[in-house]
Amino acid sequence: MITPISATDEGPAFDSLNLHPDLLRGIHDLGYLRPTPIQAQAIPPILAGRDVIGCAQTGTGKTAAFVLPILHKLLQHRGRGHARALIVAPTRELALQSMEHLKALSRYVPLKGAAIFGGVPMEPQIKALRQGLDIISATPGRLLDHIYSGRIDFVDLQILVLDEADRMLDMGFLPDIQKILRLLPSERQNLLFSATMPPEIAALAHQFMHHPVTVQIGQRSTPPAGIHQAIYPVPRPRKIDLLTELLRAEGTTSALVFTRTKHFASRLSETLQQRGFKVSVLHGDRSQSQRMRALEQFRRGRSQVLVATDIAARGLDIDDITHVINYDVPHTPEDYVHRIGRTARAEATGDAFTLVDREEEPLVQAIEKLLNKTLPRVTLPAFDYHVSTPHHGPRDGGHRRQGRPRRGGFQGRRNR
Ligand code: AMP
Repeated sequence: MITPISATDEGPAFDSLNLHPDLLRGIHDLGYLRPTPIQAQAIPPILAGRDVIGCAQTGTGKTAAFVLPILHKLLQHRGRGHARALIVAPTRELALQSMEHLKALSRYVPLKGAAIFGGVPMEPQIKALRQGLDIISATPGRLLDHIYSGRIDFVDLQILVLDEADRMLDMGFLPDIQKILRLLPSERQNLLFSATMPPEIAALAHQFMHHPVTVQIGQRSTPPAGIHQAIYPVPRPRKIDLLTELLRAEGTTSALVFTRTKHFASRLSETLQQRGFKVSVLHGDRSQSQRMRALEQFRRGRSQVLVATDIAARGLDIDDITHVINYDVPHTPEDYVHRIGRTARAEATGDAFTLVDREEEPLVQAIEKLLNKTLPRVTLPAFDYHVSTPHHGPRDGGHRRQGRPRRGGFQGRRNR
């Protein structure tokens, strides 16, 4: 069912998107008052001919976000009956739903579309193809059947949409997608929609899209693909020395270290300074000017380490952070995703390490559940993990050195 979701009073009106008047009539009939955020952000670059990656869940209005500009573009010229737009979806329900949505929005325009999916007789689909279609919404397997039988000709294809790409990955469709990509004309506009952006999908996008614009709606539930995550199991009293080792390793030029409390953030930064690091600290107890100064120093590379709490790090936008190190495991998996998203910004790569005392393991399990994967456990071969004497120092920051940390690089040993 194509029912409107509750509208907000904010944001631009549909009129401002310069869509064809007959599409505006369709939109009006459906009772849509304003574009949803994904529509407001995705429609202009799609109309401008850009490749677009849309990170959005179902329910955000993402279907109309690609259907409307596709219809608008196809209306500019008459077709010859060969498909000019192709939407590939992981399930028949989704393929049908997109086509239903498309038909509702295009009721005043002379464009033809059909959904093509497996598990039903071929004949009606063959008939529809013979009569000529402007837009096809299809699942990968049946689409390939039709292409291989010579019943679909994509010579006129202008726009390809991969919808719910992460689900296609989960359902094992990536090899089929690769085959389809090879069979399409290379000159075309590409749109990819996905609720999450697992590394395989990011790699696929990189492979077939040209300078895509990324549009992100809602909180990210998966970290950017370029982040290498690792768990460092370590008894709490040894965390400070392990952190020192990691910071001294080659390549750790700009590290954001998270602690849970403001108090400990200050303590940790003092200890790291004593150990020879240039450190800035950022937490809620610091004045605005102190925070600005800390950030500026870190941004300009005058300090190698920025120690921060979650609150202070909200919305931090710093390029070129090579490492995010969680001194404590964050309380919620969402905070973890947010923290590690501070590195590998703008498609770059970065490392995200989490120091985990045995007591914190359940928090790691919650993170792994959210990410739907096991994170590699890494131990440093030359590091002494042994807590030799009862730990009498101040909690967390008992900065007793046990075993001399080596300078320079380190070799991580990964085990699962
Ligand atoms: P989708 O995320 O594409 O599955 O859309 C979810 C629901 O939002 C569908 O029922 C659409 O009919 C509805 N919808 C899409 N765009 C709008 C809009 N601009 N205003 C109100 N509802 C909308």
